Amino acid sequence: MKKIYLDYAASTPVAKEVLAAMEPYFSLQYGNASSLHYFGQKATMALDGARESVARLIGANFREIVFTSGATEANNLVLRGVVKGCSIKNPRVIISSVEHDSVIETACDLEKDGVEIVRLPVDKNGKINLDFLKKSLNSRVVLVSVMYANNITGSIHPIVEISKIIKNFKKKSKFPFFHSDAVQALQYLDCDMKKLGVDFMTLSAHKIYGPKGIGLLCSAGKTNQPDDVNGLIGIKAVTTGGGQEFGLRAGTENVPAIVGFAKAMEKAIKIREKEAKRLGKLKESLWEEIKKNAPNAIRNAEDTEVLPNILNVSFPNAPKNLVARFDMLGVAVSSGSACSARSQKASHVLRAMGISEELSHQSIRFSLGIGTTEEEIRKTIQTVRAILHTVS
Ligand code: PMP
Repeated sequence: MKKIYLDYAASTPVAKEVLAAMEPYFSLQYGNASSLHYFGQKATMALDGARESVARLIGANFREIVFTSGATEANNLVLRGVVKGCSIKNPRVIISSVEHDSVIETACDLEKDGVEIVRLPVDKNGKINLDFLKKSLNSRVVLVSVMYANNITGSIHPIVEISKIIKNFKKKSKFPFFHSDAVQALQYLDCDMKKLGVDFMTLSAHKIYGPKGIGLLCSAGKTNQPDDVNGLIGIKAVTTGGGQEFGLRAGTENVPAIVGFAKAMEKAIKIREKEAKRLGKLKESLWEEIKKNAPNAIRNAEDTEVLPNILNVSFPNAPKNLVARFDMLGVAVSSGSACSARSQKASHVLRAMGISEELSHQSIRFSLGIGTTEEEIRKTIQTVRAILHTVS
């Protein structure tokens, strides 16, 4: 039985051209980018080229890109780093209640250290309440963090609008900074920092057909000066050591992964529009057929703009172990974020949207990607039918 993968929001296969671009940097050009000799310089050249390319593709400058081990580390860096660098008494950080665990849990950790955390509520479509945001802004707010597109439902937040609210509030003061986790958005939406109006943005390679273990934090218009020993203005390092990545992320740079990330980003942008259209159609056909076969199925985040590749559906009365049932029949889907799947907790995103704990456990995220075909969608529908038939 050929397996069907519908979990591209969890991770994607590395594209052939990405693998080819990475290959020389494993055992041919293996120098340490900090070394001054020939081998080191070869690695530095690759690193600089990738940084230049990534910066150009997201409307940023060379010195504004900090490569990290993934989006989790980038989110940790921005939350902890801004708080550490702010010199404000009793700082407040505002996050949405549907952020990825790497933001939610980092905020909880900061809260234990006395940072005030405000969690913005969302409506039934997973959209934040902008009035609540406006009311939560005060002179102690150092950071607002709202993701561009949600990883569970795909719902898209109005980043430009939020940025205007924050700019309007802060006028000439430095704080608050605005950060957006754009990990899920990059493959399908324009992530130009300047157009979005964000101060910081998080990205990850393995959601865009690049390798795992590489991500970045980008800072628009906050280019660190050579004499700014603390790296990006307004943010302090949380990893100390050799001073790599402009002093913001110590540790030998993962050159093959960084080169792969740059290649993957180039490809993601090239295929963005076409893939968005193709997957949008496939997703709609999947939903139409689900509805025919399961009239009580509920499409989550139905009345808002959603990424073209994510469909989140609740199946009332279905058993809790839906993901395992799909898997047994050869279809890989998920119920929540892969990062928290093992905890078997109901998705905090669906719960924040007002979905009951029971129904959250009966919800499935179908996330489509480059390998998804009409044939796979047909087979998935047969699987849905088989599962619902056995449970009714
Ligand atoms: N943010 C979002 C929105 C994500 O979907 C993910 C991955 N599930 C992450 C952050 C974490 O990314 P990484 O695996 O690169 O740490």
